Amino acid sequence: MEKEKKKILFVASEADPFIKTGGLADVAGSLPQALIEEGHDVRLVIPQYRQIPQKYKERMEAVCHFRTKLAWRDTYLGVNKLEEDGVPVYFIDNQYYFDRDSLYENEDKHEQFAFFSQAVLDMLPVIGFQPDVIHTNDWQTGPLPLLFADRYRQQSYYQDIKTVFTIHNLKYQGQFAGHAAGDVLGVAPHHWESGNIRHNGLLNYMKTGIMYADHVTTVSESYADEIQTSYFGEGLDYALRLRADDLSGILNGISYDKFDPETNKNLAVRFSKGEIDKKIANKVHIQQKLGLEVNGDKPLIGFISRMVEQKGLDLVKAVFDEIMATGAQFLILGTGQREYEEFFEAKQHEYPDNLSVNIKYDAQLADQIYAGSDMFLMPSRFEPCGLSQLISFRYGTIPVVRETGGLNDTVIPYNEETGEGTGFGFRNYNAHDMLHTIERAVSFYDQKGIWNKLINRVMNLDYSWHNSAQKYSELYNQLAGIGKHKLLQQGDQSKVNIKVYHPEQEKEDITKTKKVKTSKKISINQSSAAELAKLPGIGDAYAERIVTYREQKGDFTKKSDLTKVKGIGKKKYQKISKLLTL
Ligand code: ADP
Repeated sequence: MEKEKKKILFVASEADPFIKTGGLADVAGSLPQALIEEGHDVRLVIPQYRQIPQKYKERMEAVCHFRTKLAWRDTYLGVNKLEEDGVPVYFIDNQYYFDRDSLYENEDKHEQFAFFSQAVLDMLPVIGFQPDVIHTNDWQTGPLPLLFADRYRQQSYYQDIKTVFTIHNLKYQGQFAGHAAGDVLGVAPHHWESGNIRHNGLLNYMKTGIMYADHVTTVSESYADEIQTSYFGEGLDYALRLRADDLSGILNGISYDKFDPETNKNLAVRFSKGEIDKKIANKVHIQQKLGLEVNGDKPLIGFISRMVEQKGLDLVKAVFDEIMATGAQFLILGTGQREYEEFFEAKQHEYPDNLSVNIKYDAQLADQIYAGSDMFLMPSRFEPCGLSQLISFRYGTIPVVRETGGLNDTVIPYNEETGEGTGFGFRNYNAHDMLHTIERAVSFYDQKGIWNKLINRVMNLDYSWHNSAQKYSELYNQLAGIGKHKLLQQGDQSKVNIKVYHPEQEKEDITKTKKVKTSKKISINQSSAAELAKLPGIGDAYAERIVTYREQKGDFTKKSDLTKVKGIGKKKYQKISKLLTL
């Protein structure tokens, strides 16, 4: 079948090489190019932050500038452009919003990224690009599908555009005081009242993207399943279950050009498949550079990561001395929570020859560690996709991982019976399970026949973007073929009132929703604040409290629990209870 060429606008808050804080930048910096190779017309748009290096700013051309309204604000909107590796990249320029010391730590970040989302939509007719699909990413772009549904797709220029929202990490949600819905986003009140953009009484940009995009993806199939459970759902599992029919997992790839052991100039010695001696030369180089005992035969474990709880650092802390007792060397690169940084810095003094702790962000050193390590440790509590295990494969470094999310989908634990496997894995989030897995990996490291086979095997894996870009292509084609928006049809208010479900009651509630339509009573579990407020004796304030209580504690299991809601005493309950049903 001939490939269908689609016009795609990829919208992200960061993209390598312009600006990077995490894996999202890797994706935004490499997926568009892979999609262009699939035959699509793909453009990328990011904010023009102060921190973007001058060398890129010098290459930008001004495309247009005009004024736009963000709710009641009249603001400047400039669009600049450059081309990087064949990808047209637009930069949204507004000094007030993006000429800041920090990317994501500003008090008005809800306003910064509301502006960004709206600016992207506003610029389209001006720059003359009419995409088939706008692909948004993470909470910073969550408002875009909402704004689109609220007031753009009713306009002829936008009417055929579909939106995709990709979750790179559900933990970071962008939660703000509710008044911003009107004051900053300027959207109609029903979006808030229905609960679609609200979670625990706060405006939630992640939930907004989930509820309003035509399709939601996340970055591995396992994580797509996991986030629909309460353990991994970060409180939003109910929203993801509601969108389950439009939710899929597509694994991230990595740039095989950027992470290429044959050409990477950051490496001390470049090497190709089969050149295991040259890989060891990289180990010796990094041992020398970082002051470790120089010994090509010692197993070296690498760890490069943001130092946050997600990455399983509490497990590493719990059995750190036992890990060092395996006789392996340990090389750490990362920054983050002070408690972890301090722990490792203190340990550095205990193991001067075998532990190197580097509290910084250093892309060149990262490449040298990937290439020089024998094993790469990722004991993550959860991991949407994880890029480091894929980068490790590329450099013949064997991942030791907790089998969760994308790690579960990419690393096959070594099986000594069959000889199969591409790494070492453990399932339970448990420090001793991790330790035994490290010990096991170290014991196989000593069996050179097996270890070298593993190195050759992982270096032959293909986690470039090609396969995943094809999956995105299929998704775009599918979406562009759908005539109508699946969710929240214009004028279809019944779908706007999507309710907050308590996990166990989900099925029951869906059945009840049908009943409510024929009943005169109003459901306390399924009605929006606006619907509740219409009942005599309830009013806006109580309605809001009932809905907030429900969001925090789950659905009411009996009507009399209404008396637990602040301000609803027995008297008030008696007055209103006959009008209500569960
Ligand atoms: P996350 O997005 O959760 O941080 P990923 O594994 O998806 O995790 O991506 C992390 C990316 O950032 C990888 O490319 C990794 O090598 C890189 N990285 C993390 N910390 C550092 C650091 N201190 N120095 C250099 N690169 C780093």
